[in-house]
Amino acid sequence: MKRAGAILAVALLAACGGRTAVRPAESAAATRAAPLRVHIVAPGETLWRIARRYGVDVERLAALNGLADPNRIVAGQRLLLPPEAAPAPEAAPAARPRWRWPVRGPVSSLFGAPRGGSRHQGIDILVPPGTPVRASAAGVVRYAGRRRGYGLLVVVDHGEGFTTWYGHNSRITVREGDAVAAGARVALSGASGNASAPHVHFEVRRNGKPLDPLALLP
Ligand SMILES: [Zn+2]
Repeated sequence: MKRAGAILAVALLAACGGRTAVRPAESAAATRAAPLRVHIVAPGETLWRIARRYGVDVERLAALNGLADPNRIVAGQRLLLPPEAAPAPEAAPAARPRWRWPVRGPVSSLFGAPRGGSRHQGIDILVPPGTPVRASAAGVVRYAGRRRGYGLLVVVDHGEGFTTWYGHNSRITVREGDAVAAGARVALSGASGNASAPHVHFEVRRNGKPLDPLALLP
C-alpha cells in the first residue's frame, strides 16, 4: 500500500511539473504487470474461506495484507488479492440488479429512521411469522446465521458490490455459498434478534454502505 502511494505521488508530481499529461491512475497501473484485485470481507467470512474461494494460499493472503493474525478480519475490510487469484465463483450481473420485494407487506419503519443514537439501515416489512422471505435478486448466500440484533440473518451477495440483508427470521433455509435465483426462498420470517414484533428487516448495501431500499424496489 505504501509503495502504491509513493508511485501515485511521483506520478502526480510528474503530471504537475511536466507538459506530458500522464494521468496518475494510468501511470500507477502501468507500473504493475497485473493489477491487484480487492475483496471486501462479508459478515461471517473467514480468511480461510476467502482463500479457498479464490483458490489462493491462506498464508499468502495474510502476508499480502500484512495480517499478523489471520483470525482477525472484520466485515467490510478490504483485502488485496494476489494476481493468481481465480475469479470469484458467483453470478456477476452485467448491470445493477432489478430488485424485487423479499416479502409483501406494509412498511413499518423507513430507512434512516432514528434508532437510539444511530439510523435505521434498512426498512421493516410487517408479515406474519413463517412467511417465505425471498431473495431480492439472484446471487450467492454470503452469510446465513445468527448475528446480534439481526437475529437469524441471511446476506446475499449480488456482485457489483451489492448485498441484501434479511433479518429477524425464524428459520434460515439456505446455506452459505448457495447460489440463489431472484425470488428464491432464503428464510422464513420471524422476530428473532432485536425485534418487538414479527417483521422482515431488509437492507440493500453497496460496498458495505446501506442504501434506501425504497429507492430501488419497484
Ligand atoms: Zn429494521
